[in-house]
Amino acid sequence: MRIRLTRVLLVGLCLAALGGGGAVCAAEGFGLAALREKVGPCTCLVTAQNALGLPLGYATGFLIGKGRFVATDLATLAQPGVVRAVLRFDDGVEEVAWEFGLADPVLGVAVIRREENALERSGLHLSPQPVNPEEGRPVAAVGWQWGDRMQVGRGQLRDGLSARELAEVSGTAAPIRDVKFLGFNSPVLEGTAGAPVVDGAGDVVGMLLPVKASPQDVTVVVPAAALREALLSAKPELKCFPDLPEPLWPVQVQQVAGKPIHPGLVGRSVRACKTRLRCPRCNGSGQVSEKRFSHWERVGGMRRAVYKMVPVTCPTCQGETAVWKDAHYASLATIGEQGTQLVYGPGVEAQTRAAVRGQVAEFLGGLSKVGERFRRQFDAAGAAAVAKAEDELPVGLVLYAQVRETVDGPDGRYTLLAPHWSSVLFVVRHETFGPTSDEIVHVPDATWRYGKWLVLAGRAEKKLALPGRELIYFRPAAWASGPHLGDAPSRPPNPQPLPPLYSLPTRAKKETPRPGTEPKPPKTVTVTKPPEPGKETTKPPEKKPEKKSEGDGEPDFFGL
Ligand SMILES: [Zn+2]
Repeated sequence: MRIRLTRVLLVGLCLAALGGGGAVCAAEGFGLAALREKVGPCTCLVTAQNALGLPLGYATGFLIGKGRFVATDLATLAQPGVVRAVLRFDDGVEEVAWEFGLADPVLGVAVIRREENALERSGLHLSPQPVNPEEGRPVAAVGWQWGDRMQVGRGQLRDGLSARELAEVSGTAAPIRDVKFLGFNSPVLEGTAGAPVVDGAGDVVGMLLPVKASPQDVTVVVPAAALREALLSAKPELKCFPDLPEPLWPVQVQQVAGKPIHPGLVGRSVRACKTRLRCPRCNGSGQVSEKRFSHWERVGGMRRAVYKMVPVTCPTCQGETAVWKDAHYASLATIGEQGTQLVYGPGVEAQTRAAVRGQVAEFLGGLSKVGERFRRQFDAAGAAAVAKAEDELPVGLVLYAQVRETVDGPDGRYTLLAPHWSSVLFVVRHETFGPTSDEIVHVPDATWRYGKWLVLAGRAEKKLALPGRELIYFRPAAWASGPHLGDAPSRPPNPQPLPPLYSLPTRAKKETPRPGTEPKPPKTVTVTKPPEPGKETTKPPEKKPEKKSEGDGEPDFFGL
């Protein structure tokens, strides 16, 4: 409380120092709760998904104009494989979007078109006035932090970098068009690419863009005036996400939902887990000393027994050095969860990530060499966790699994894994993207050899309902070769590829508003085209609702 008071005072003082009596007034009337109430319903969590419906990134989006378009971070959507975005609003309603109306690589903005049948919502007003950072106007950013939940962070706009300067610090080629970005000084709103920055009236003055740079990352604010200009001069046409241009800036994309964890935490969890599993009686040596009779000895006419200490197999762990209790599984699951969070989390250096992976892999290596008694118990606990996982996704797991076939998916190769003692199959992206698309974590081909056993730590995330198959998407954090637990069934002659969501037969799921007729990229639809009867009749029916509302003229495209 005291800290907050001090901060308020400081802000007030700064404003007074800047000589803005009016600004102080603005600061006073600036309630975060009221702002959240006003702006919150106009923002959404944008989850970029591939054709299997697997999440590839999270960003914040905000409704603009008449609420039919959502402005968000371009880099999140322009990742390879992204075909759709799930928009989740504050009221819990989710909708799917497939197209964009504008993408500006210099501004780092993509403007998504909401579906015709989507719930009506109002948009935020883009402030047309260029912001003068010298005024020190108090603003707030409203974002879905870490792809997790909505947060409001107060801050102040300040002078920002120009596009050329940003190019320099982020190691990017300078764009031809120079843009002057703004700066934002709130550390509260990390992990919210695409969040709107609003003034006290709830009007958008900019959008947050966290850019990876050296010597340190920098979050710039894309000025609303520049965004507005781009919207007004854009061609009114809709394209599918795979047509998005490459983002210019190396934006910090949130790949897994949740706050990034400290790298040291995973190591600590691994150590804690090792300690817990270690046999307390022999302290992990597998042997204890026992007093054994050795021989008789004569001392001054008296006979006395001589004993000596001999090492014997520890009766508690039976020489296996570790003892299993089912309560231990929770700490293993934590390693799976934290490891995944770290390996795919934003802002982690490649070296750190490799080191953490190594630590976990070494621990898993230990689990593959444990004695049989321990192994059986751990194996059974893993199987129980997998059975429970189906209802608790996403969930961290450590388990034995056997590699099955590698199949083609709509965006690359996938490998199926059969957890031991389980009827479900896990599906793993063959090449799992690291936190940036240029840093791909390659799994050696030998790892995916059919029938090979692995010990895996990672997170089971999402069910994939494919016809005749029950699959769960699994994101591995680390793995090691596992003990041989049996031969694999004979290899299927024609492994079935994973069909994309939009080619699946219609299911009674309200999530998919366009059953059956999903976009076949890269098709472009010009929406202002005057209706030509007789033409376009052979096209899939999906586009026809587009026209009626767009008829009132081009400048209205974004509803500004
Ligand atoms: Zn022992």
